[in-house]
Amino acid sequence: MSASPVHTTDVHRILKEVWGYDAFRPLQHESIECVIQRRDSLTVLPTGGGKSLCFQVPALAIDALAVVISPLISLMKDQVDALRACGVAAAFVNSTQSDDEKREVAELIRSRELKLLYLAPERLLNPKTFEFLRRQTISFFAIDEAHCISNWGHDFRPEYRGLRQLVDQFPGVSVHAYTATASGPVRDDIVTQLGLREPEVIIGDFDRPNLTYRMIRTDGRLGQVMEVVGRHSGESGVVYCISRKEVEKTAAAMVQAGIVALPYHAGLSDETRKQNQDAFINDRCDVIVATVAFGMGIDKSNVRFVVHAGMPKSIEHYQQESGRAGRDGLESECVLFYSGGDVVTWKKIMSGEPSSYDSSVASLESMFGVCASAVCRHRSLVEHFGQSYATNNCGACDVCLDEIDLVDDPITLSQKILSCVVRLRERFGVSHTAKVLCGSGEQRIRQLGHDQLSTYGLLADDGLPSVRMWIDQLIQQGYLCRLGEYQTLGLTESGRRLLHRDGEPKLTIATKSKKA
Ligand code: ADP
Ligand code: ZN
Repeated sequence: MSASPVHTTDVHRILKEVWGYDAFRPLQHESIECVIQRRDSLTVLPTGGGKSLCFQVPALAIDALAVVISPLISLMKDQVDALRACGVAAAFVNSTQSDDEKREVAELIRSRELKLLYLAPERLLNPKTFEFLRRQTISFFAIDEAHCISNWGHDFRPEYRGLRQLVDQFPGVSVHAYTATASGPVRDDIVTQLGLREPEVIIGDFDRPNLTYRMIRTDGRLGQVMEVVGRHSGESGVVYCISRKEVEKTAAAMVQAGIVALPYHAGLSDETRKQNQDAFINDRCDVIVATVAFGMGIDKSNVRFVVHAGMPKSIEHYQQESGRAGRDGLESECVLFYSGGDVVTWKKIMSGEPSSYDSSVASLESMFGVCASAVCRHRSLVEHFGQSYATNNCGACDVCLDEIDLVDDPITLSQKILSCVVRLRERFGVSHTAKVLCGSGEQRIRQLGHDQLSTYGLLADDGLPSVRMWIDQLIQQGYLCRLGEYQTLGLTESGRRLLHRDGEPKLTIATKSKKA
């Protein structure tokens, strides 16, 4: 059954009366209009853009039950609590509830009192729930975190694929998808996988002009992280680490340095995690040191800095995690420390995960590409999300602020590196190649006779970290590639042309790090 015609309530009035807000944020009204018109839609707004209201407001404007699909119990609970605090009849059904509680919700639905019902996809698709809902008057379906349906995105959740049944089984009911993280392919995938019917696609502005981005190649993570945290003394910030072990180590170092910091990762008990998160949200702790487990559903406006002690595994993750800074619109800083080694670390972690490995590696490489490039960070991020960036100098990233120095003669330097790869017959990896170029005295190099190569020690004055960085940059810019199981370095077609000085590589001088 589909809902009876909408008596068009003024959505502005609902916004004011229920939430106390005076105006819609950009595109919220357009997005709400799709729901009112019952036109399938996909709304892509950055984190903090106000996606929830895009389905919550129309849920109140239409006289029937709106069903919201959400991937996490904690997200559902946060939203339902917030709605109830505003006096809205909302509920969720999930495994944390007793049978009595579930029956109570069902009763509210039957008596048509409930306006919003939150469910995880597996709960919705459970035959009993599904049949029950088919007998109710549903106003629309809202699919939150819709990128979970795509294995091109991060956070792929196979259960989301089942949502395809909605358009067939509830023919008169419109379906609306919402996400913060949709590059072109993910966007298309959401539309296809959900079977949306000629959807309206609404895409918000992904640029966050109040954030200053820095992506710095690491030369001693802990010290660099401490330096950033040190210049934000007394301010709220998040430090993301790749592993739990690093979280513990980093948090301990901060506490020792007199910083009020707490750890957050999946290895801690639920209770500790909740305590630490609450302490951060209520400003009893300045810095939360966390794995990616931290953050979904966190709504804290005064985060002044976000540091990534290691490279995130995708640009989507980066946008979302760094996006937790400066939600109040005030200037905030996002610093990412990365190394080629982070790529290897992630590949190891990912090879143990069931989800589609190839697309994960592609996401990883694009993230590395942004880090290692000398392109404006605002531009790189915005363009990744399928938008164009008009500003030439953003004045708010390490590239535009001229903190990154370019090498004067990148072609000659590249030739030296590429010839070394050729001399090594494309049979060795980044590390070995860099050592040969730097003239390392390692025994293995002598044993292999690589100290006899003409390129041995050619870049000895530049030092291993710089040489490794240049190799990474040549990979990112498509002159070198990693081959096969052992990830040995090889030349691409452009690499071969560059050997003849045909090409425009950009190589940077290691960032002027203010190392103590
Ligand atoms: P998203 O899901 O897009 O990350 P949320 O829906 O959680 O964002 O909204 C982020 C915050 O912005 C919430 O605290 C919400 O109440 C607030 N918000 C949303 N829309 C408006 C608005 N029109 N005016 C003021 N605040 C808003
Ligand atoms: Zn810039």
